[in-house]
Amino acid sequence: MAVAVARPCNIEMNMDKAKLRENSGTPPPKLGRMQRLKRRLSQSFNRFVPKDNESTRRQGVEPNGASSPRKGNYRQLESSTSPETVTPSGVDAAKAKRLRNRRHSEAVLPNIVTTVAASLPGGRSSPSYMPRRRMSMSPDSPFGKLEAYQRLEMLGEGSYATVYRGVSNISNQIVALKEIRLNEEEGTPFTAIREASLLKGLRHANIVILHDIIHTKNNLTFVFEYVDTDLSKYMEHHLGGIHPHNVKLFLFQLIRGLAYCHARRILHRDLKPQNLLINQNGELKLADFGLARAKSVPSHTFSNEVVTLWYRPPDVLLGSTDYSTSLDMWGVGCIFAEMISGMPLFPGMKDTVDQLTKIWQLLGTPTEETWSGVSKLPEFQKYEFYQYTPSPLKTYVPQLIGSAGGVELLTELLQLLPRKRISAADAMKHKYFKGLGPEVLTLPPERSIFSIPSIQLRDGKKSLTPTPSSVTNGTSAI
Ligand code: AMP
Repeated sequence: MAVAVARPCNIEMNMDKAKLRENSGTPPPKLGRMQRLKRRLSQSFNRFVPKDNESTRRQGVEPNGASSPRKGNYRQLESSTSPETVTPSGVDAAKAKRLRNRRHSEAVLPNIVTTVAASLPGGRSSPSYMPRRRMSMSPDSPFGKLEAYQRLEMLGEGSYATVYRGVSNISNQIVALKEIRLNEEEGTPFTAIREASLLKGLRHANIVILHDIIHTKNNLTFVFEYVDTDLSKYMEHHLGGIHPHNVKLFLFQLIRGLAYCHARRILHRDLKPQNLLINQNGELKLADFGLARAKSVPSHTFSNEVVTLWYRPPDVLLGSTDYSTSLDMWGVGCIFAEMISGMPLFPGMKDTVDQLTKIWQLLGTPTEETWSGVSKLPEFQKYEFYQYTPSPLKTYVPQLIGSAGGVELLTELLQLLPRKRISAADAMKHKYFKGLGPEVLTLPPERSIFSIPSIQLRDGKKSLTPTPSSVTNGTSAI
């Protein structure tokens, strides 16, 4: 399966004031206590020293006050301070450029970190529909530190990070630690910054909660709520397809999470079963926002290499960059069909042409008559596609025939023309979901659909790998 590549950004290694002085041959001046502290922190965080007259408010100090980072030690990030603005003499143009490049990302990340830490959820295993307690970040806060977590076994590997199960020493709560390797040359990957900045603004029962961020010399670790499994693994336990009732509940939650994102002009862009986490209660949560991007809809500026091939819509495969929220809705259609049948709908094995051929075989090869403008798309001009006629969708998903509106919803999701694809907001109101009752449409974002007593998973819990979400009855945050 093709995986979109995480594009690294142009962040360069830190050069703090001491190093700049070294380069310019100026002897270091005698520093005051606070200045020494700032310098230590700056070295620890591998980022710029704030201006001398900036305050050092809310700096994260290691409990032992150590000035140099120990191997494997986690440090708390301070709040944003102005980065160095003056290019010092003795630093060549290339170095100055690297400093400028790094400055942007290094300025962004601490802002994200403090905002996330300031909105940590309270309550030990507070369900996602419960309100979250706001916490203020202070130097004494246990968050953002290595000591706060123990790393356990590996859960999976994404395109730019490795995910481990972990346990919070503060609350004994099980967490997921997503470790992003920091490249000495390139610094923090954009994908990570993007994921943090997007997630911090999203508060929804169907979007994974980001609890904390830990910064070390070599790693950036996101601490997420632990979610028992993902849809890909869940389907491995349901060969032949998931129970149709549960498919409806998963699909509704997927669409609900997306409607929330799309209303905020955020596309996920990498929907696939591995990125949909499912907890023991059957709550589905969108994860891995590394390729997501806030956008104005529509936009013409995006790369078309964004979603995994099997779930990639034909317009994007054909080279269109004029895509919008419809991109995610195609993926929803593919995942819907896969959940119900137990088989991927378009399992392209080779390349774009192979993937497109799989789609044409089912939905018919488009022509100018059926898709005005298709012949102008770059990849359509390159190849001569065999002319397939469309087949009835229900022959591929006979399991849906009995459910009112199921085949219709799938058809509306799998429209070749992006503008004809149903939106997430409209899909939530589709008659396929009518049986869930009207209340699901008026729930506050942070409340789970399972807070409605009539909504329950059927025979689903027993096939989720049972993993305790808390190892004790501790009551502290996370
Ligand atoms: P990602 O890099 O986000 O795509 O994650 C890679 C894999 O790690 C996923 O497919 C999941 O199996 C697992 N994973 C990611 N996030 C979590 C989480 N919050 N809880 C449990 N497992 C996770």
